[in-house]
Amino acid sequence: MEKEGLPALGWAARDTSGHLSPYSFSRRVQEDDDVTIKVLFCGICHTDLHIAKNDWGNTLYPVVPGHEIVGVVTDIGRGVDGFKIGETVGVGYFVGSCRTCISCSKGYENYCAKLELTSNGVGRDGENTRGGFSDVLVVNQDYVLRVPDTVPMDGAAPLLCAGVTVYTPMMRHGLNAPGKHLGVVGLGGLGHLAIKFGKAFGMTVTVISSSPAKRQEALDRLGADAFLLSSDPEEMKAAAGTMDGIIDTVSAGHPIVPLLDVLSPMGQIVLVGGPSEPLELPAYAIVPGGKGIVGNLVGSIRDCQAMLDFAGKHGITADVEVVKMDYVNTAVQRLQRNDVRYRFVIDVAGSQL
Ligand code: NAP
Ligand code: ZN
Ligand code: ZN
Repeated sequence: MEKEGLPALGWAARDTSGHLSPYSFSRRVQEDDDVTIKVLFCGICHTDLHIAKNDWGNTLYPVVPGHEIVGVVTDIGRGVDGFKIGETVGVGYFVGSCRTCISCSKGYENYCAKLELTSNGVGRDGENTRGGFSDVLVVNQDYVLRVPDTVPMDGAAPLLCAGVTVYTPMMRHGLNAPGKHLGVVGLGGLGHLAIKFGKAFGMTVTVISSSPAKRQEALDRLGADAFLLSSDPEEMKAAAGTMDGIIDTVSAGHPIVPLLDVLSPMGQIVLVGGPSEPLELPAYAIVPGGKGIVGNLVGSIRDCQAMLDFAGKHGITADVEVVKMDYVNTAVQRLQRNDVRYRFVIDVAGSQL
């Protein structure tokens, strides 16, 4: 007889309005190498907003968003050796990969062409995957992270996507060295964590923002060394040629030539934001300075665990506004209009689903 999946309750968007409402479904049957996780907290990443509204044209409705998940292990399969019932764990942007392609074999499974996304993907059972805006998950143990107990669980949730997305390119592109100058473009969920990691690496960090109202808190509370208003040509000009690298987290179309201008020769800009509009790139903006533009998608499981351990050691957590699930539509609207300091996190276990 076929075993029944686990009943699950979540909130889903059904169409491009992105409006979320209660949704019941079932999780796949736990297999030998699976961990069953009761979701405690889930961050609201701007990617959830892009997906709920089908900004990227690939949304599989009904979609249950959520890929910044912290929870507790409630059951394990017979073959699970890395996790125990009762342990605090995390799940990020993906829950599976092919394990055999070049990317997987080199330890960059985040670039696997068959990456199994936590939400809005296709799972190993052929069903659409549903994310952490729900009460329970069943995940292969190799894609589950250990959350250090020195980090509060609500503030840890955004590390699972926002944190690893900024930490990984800093490590890969040498933007983790004391004395180097890092630019962070867009002071939102990703951007505020980029400041914190940059400062923990001993770097000089300059925020480049479109919001004058964020200047004081970037400098006083988040520890940035300088703040440039991207719309102020004088401020931007004064910083020309000064930065070793830039992490660009902006979620909407924006000019990148002024950002390339503040890079030093051979500096690199790492694009991590996902605007649906193309960015305009004239060759003159990169050729004379030998500058580079590179992308980054989250990080591998190994990178993510290293990031969590580093965050635990250095006391890095997200600045969060914790909300209940029945506030999620308001939270998404506020995220859309840039009204969050700096990440909404849903108290899933404390909400009526
Ligand atoms: P967020 O909290 O909304 O932050 C985005 C920031 O971009 C805003 O705070 C704002 O900063 C700036 N911004 C927004 N609209 C803008 C506009 N029209 N012009 C200029 N600046 C604007 O979003 P997030 O969660 O950090 O995510 C940021 C982007 O990264 C999203 O597109 C998301 O899908 C993507 N993402 C990618 C990955 C990856 O693996 N590559 C992972 C997670 C998220 P200021 O007010 O300072 O200008
Ligand atoms: Zn995300
Ligand atoms: Zn692969």
